[in-house]
Amino acid sequence: MNVTSKFPTVVLLSLISAVAIVFAAEPTASVSADAALAKLKEGNARYMNSKVSAGKPTATRRAETAQGQHPFAAILGCADSRVSPEIVFDQNIGDIFVDRNAGNLVDDHTLGTIEYGVEHLGVRLIVVLGHERCGAVQAAVASDTAPGHVQSLVRDIQPAVQAVKGKPGDQVHLAVVENARLMAEEIRSKANLGDLAKDVKIISAVYDLDSGKVDFGKE
Ligand SMILES: [Zn+2]
Repeated sequence: MNVTSKFPTVVLLSLISAVAIVFAAEPTASVSADAALAKLKEGNARYMNSKVSAGKPTATRRAETAQGQHPFAAILGCADSRVSPEIVFDQNIGDIFVDRNAGNLVDDHTLGTIEYGVEHLGVRLIVVLGHERCGAVQAAVASDTAPGHVQSLVRDIQPAVQAVKGKPGDQVHLAVVENARLMAEEIRSKANLGDLAKDVKIISAVYDLDSGKVDFGKE
């Protein structure tokens, strides 16, 4: 039995219209790239200077966001348990569109996620967030091979490792900075953002595990 015999064409068309209306209800843009960056910097300063968690009103925010999300920034970060974007930027649920993997690497899934965030959620700022002493980068600095699927991480961090080889300074630190920069460049060159690209800012930043500070560098 095929689908159309169960769902007459008219029903299917109604469903398609309903989906279109849901997407149409999303805003085209809510917060500009510069305003979003200022919000992240303010949030990180709050986080750095807080001795205890701010205690977000999550129940209220959950109710506010249950029917739709309007995040003001997208962050590609590392899976590292110490670098949760919502926490280090002192934000709540619904505030940041987050994609994470070990080494904050860009693949097709990442690009699709970012394109969706820009086109359908109105995100105009994309931050690739690396961090000091990143285990994935440490592994890539130590060797260009690794067991299992970790190999795919080590392989994709190699361009950063090779780019900083021989430069003065800590190789892991240099590779962390370079890897985040290269991944931002990768998004810039590969993401299909169409006409929206002119309003979108894509930058890299590095999180310091000790101070809690996010260094946005030269942006
Ligand atoms: Zn990491």
